[in-house]
Amino acid sequence: MLNLIGLSKYEVEEALVNLGEKPYRAKQMWHWIYCKGAQNFEEMSSFSEKLKILLANHFTLQRPRVSHEQLSNDGSFKWLLEVDGPNNIESVFIPEVDRAALCVSSQVGCTLNCSFCHTGTQKMVRNLTAGEILGQIMVAKDKYQDWKKPASERKLTNIVMMGMGEPLFNYPEVSKALRIIMDPEGISLSKRRITLSTSGVIPMIEKVGTELGVGLAISLHAVTDEIRNELVPINKKYPIEQLLNACRTYPGANNARRITFEYVMLKGINDSEADARELSRLLRDIHAKVNLIPFNTWPGSPYSCSSTSVIKKFASILNNNKISAPIRVPRGRDIMAACGQLRSAKENNEPKKLNSLS
Ligand code: SAH
Ligand code: SF4
Repeated sequence: MLNLIGLSKYEVEEALVNLGEKPYRAKQMWHWIYCKGAQNFEEMSSFSEKLKILLANHFTLQRPRVSHEQLSNDGSFKWLLEVDGPNNIESVFIPEVDRAALCVSSQVGCTLNCSFCHTGTQKMVRNLTAGEILGQIMVAKDKYQDWKKPASERKLTNIVMMGMGEPLFNYPEVSKALRIIMDPEGISLSKRRITLSTSGVIPMIEKVGTELGVGLAISLHAVTDEIRNELVPINKKYPIEQLLNACRTYPGANNARRITFEYVMLKGINDSEADARELSRLLRDIHAKVNLIPFNTWPGSPYSCSSTSVIKKFASILNNNKISAPIRVPRGRDIMAACGQLRSAKENNEPKKLNSLS
């Protein structure tokens, strides 16, 4: 059975034509899937009974199976989703006062081994398909009854590709999913409400800007190659200066649409006042803002989080250099839901395979 979720309009058209249907049905089908959130063919009232049965015999609208879900006492909500057999991914819904973001995974695990990130310690890695990436959004929209609504009335307002995995190592499926998310006939979420976070896969960055035009976040975390090589080992291949050059020319970056530099605060490693001054210097001619992320520790991690006073001082140095530097408020700590280091207590059953965070 072919799952229609994640197929482009053209692919849906092809599938329907193969069944002897007219091509225009594809547009109607997309509308049922992405605007109305149909979970089965029975509810597709614009189709004849005969067609509904034919569709149900050939296709599915299968979401990833929810194997575990948890509500945090701060309102964030985490799903552990089974994508196939034992492979689990997580997504997290993070409501704020005037918006709510879904943190979406792009891979099971991650092939990169950033030394502070627990996702990188997972052995099992595979790319998610566009359907599995979209499936995370469908599950969230099902839960919050967020279908059939104009953008202004929706609960889910933003998507951040900051969950498990390096999205630019899975560009074909990530871009296919994002195109369906941005399509006015798809999920219909503006590119201004989507952010893609990368550890710095330089050759793909320009493509993200020209082809997708979504917001860019760079996991920078250090101001010297020496330290960044340790924290984000892909830096050995794509060092800071080249990475910042790619940011300087990122299509669509401007004062109103800044590139976010993520900077995880690690005690005694990257959090000195000199580091803050150097960061200000490095970013001086880039449309940048910095997100200071308190490190979320995990058992066996070689790092600890900088103190609040050190983080505040770091932020004030950036601010004095006219760089906005909000300190991220950790969300869903009680349910272990920090983006980018998603995990689940369940996975502790297999410590060797899925050496998880806590
Ligand atoms: N692979 C991509 C996207 C996922 S990681 C990337 O690296 O950008 C998303 C963010 O979570 C990154 O900025 C990452 O550095 C951060 N992160 C990972 N582990 C963390 C931890 N233990 N504490 C705080 N932030 C963490
Ligand atoms: Fe992968 Fe991002 Fe974690 Fe690095 S920080 S290991 S790139 S998920």
